[in-house]
Amino acid sequence: MNPRDTSISHSPRITSFGFILVVIAFSVVSTFATNKGSVAIRDTVSPAKRNELVSKLRSISGLTKLSFDADGFLRLGADSSERGSHGARELLKNAVSGENIVVIEDASSRADVAFCRVVMGRWTKANSALSAFVVLIDFSDFHQLTGDQQARAAFDVGWGFLHELDHVVADSQDAETEDSLGECEAHINEMRHELGLPLRSNYFFTALSMQTDPNFGTRLVRLAFEQRDPHTDRTRRFWLIWDSTVVGGLIASKQTAAVRATPLTRK
Ligand SMILES: [Zn+2]
Repeated sequence: MNPRDTSISHSPRITSFGFILVVIAFSVVSTFATNKGSVAIRDTVSPAKRNELVSKLRSISGLTKLSFDADGFLRLGADSSERGSHGARELLKNAVSGENIVVIEDASSRADVAFCRVVMGRWTKANSALSAFVVLIDFSDFHQLTGDQQARAAFDVGWGFLHELDHVVADSQDAETEDSLGECEAHINEMRHELGLPLRSNYFFTALSMQTDPNFGTRLVRLAFEQRDPHTDRTRRFWLIWDSTVVGGLIASKQTAAVRATPLTRK
């Protein structure tokens, strides 16, 4: 179905990335309009996965009371923390109080979702004029990551979710060329900088050809993060590595995703 045929109003920039719709089957659309907030998680996301997301978001934002309530709505709790990223707290606050509805869905082990991805949503209940977006999270992908610990701290399910949230809240774009980071990841890097974490160098991941063994059907790829060492005044590089045949992301589509293969590595 072409979203232009629906009554949903939406971000034109996010729409430009794709026309995939995910039906949001919440039975109480009106709940979103009754000050419960604008970010909710589906009840199909297991408690363990909710806890994983909550734990990472607490760590990044410093919001120690952040949680999902009994109805699945994201609650930030009191903001009395001096720890964590101010930018992440602001993004979360703007998302929760924003007009765009964000629904978090478990997309674990889906080949079309590498880590995270945001797509337009469509209400099953007609007549809702609320803009709806679905953040698909492939929790299993984040458990496939290997590489440097510093890079892993800068790229987990919390960071992936914030990346997609920034698309919705700030209407930010991903990079379109290999030599650019994109404004979305630039925003996320500001948060990493606040926490003293290495910054992501590229939006696109690249093939780690030397360590790819076709006999085992693997296709290792890597993503670079960098940090200035104040003691040596040199830039240190840290790598995230994963098998893209397991994680996915080699599809040459233009969705708003947390990572994307370079044109050179697409098959
Ligand atoms: Zn993106």
